[in-house]
Amino acid sequence: MVEHQRRPGWAEVEEFLSQTLVHGGPGMAAVIESIDAAGMPRIEVAPTAGKLLMLLARISGARRVLEIGTLAGFSTIWLARGMPDGGHVTTCEFLPEHASVARRNIDAAGFGPMVDIRVGAALDTLVTLDGGEPYDFVFIDADKANNVEYLKWALRLTRPGAVIVMDNVVWEGAILDPVSDPDAGAIRAALEFMGASPALDATAIQTAGSKGWDGFAIAVVR
Ligand code: SAM
Repeated sequence: MVEHQRRPGWAEVEEFLSQTLVHGGPGMAAVIESIDAAGMPRIEVAPTAGKLLMLLARISGARRVLEIGTLAGFSTIWLARGMPDGGHVTTCEFLPEHASVARRNIDAAGFGPMVDIRVGAALDTLVTLDGGEPYDFVFIDADKANNVEYLKWALRLTRPGAVIVMDNVVWEGAILDPVSDPDAGAIRAALEFMGASPALDATAIQTAGSKGWDGFAIAVVR
């Protein structure tokens, strides 16, 4: 009888990809340690996704980034790493305790002057940004219930050609069974909004790895 070896799984492949390609450096490992040390939830993006955010910001030539959902600043730092000199990141975080961990991490990573953390409900913060210089890149990764509203604000606060990335759009497939989970319903509504909006050209990519089965949507503002 032939013995079959167990094939590696998503998480092992992701670890290989992270080790081989991401090169986050000790600063990024310290951010993850700060999340554990503060007893915060491990809901930051995977390192491969963080680096993707950096690359997308760089590829799109973004100089002004808006992030909704800071946690400990892991994705914020990746985004800041994609900015040119003079770039700016505004990041919105509801919980002051998350914001203060993020502040320490962002300062320690050397991006303090570039990053403005706005504490409070993002919908309250976004109103205050109206009428300012438009953003080039928006990353939506906070409470899923408000995703459609965040997309509407993203459209209002950006210029044509801006990029919008929305995380967690597959939710372990629950978007196809939204009655069982209100967040899944809100995520699905946001995808439908993106697909129907004449102001957006969008797609979504499913992902599997350390964060389970999920995905992100990406859109460009027409
Ligand atoms: N983008 C982060 C990263 O990848 O490192 C992870 C963000 S985490 C998934 C979501 C964050 O959004 C949490 O820190 C949570 O406190 C925050 N949040 C939840 N509801 C919010 C709201 N209404 N306004 C602003 N932030 C909110």
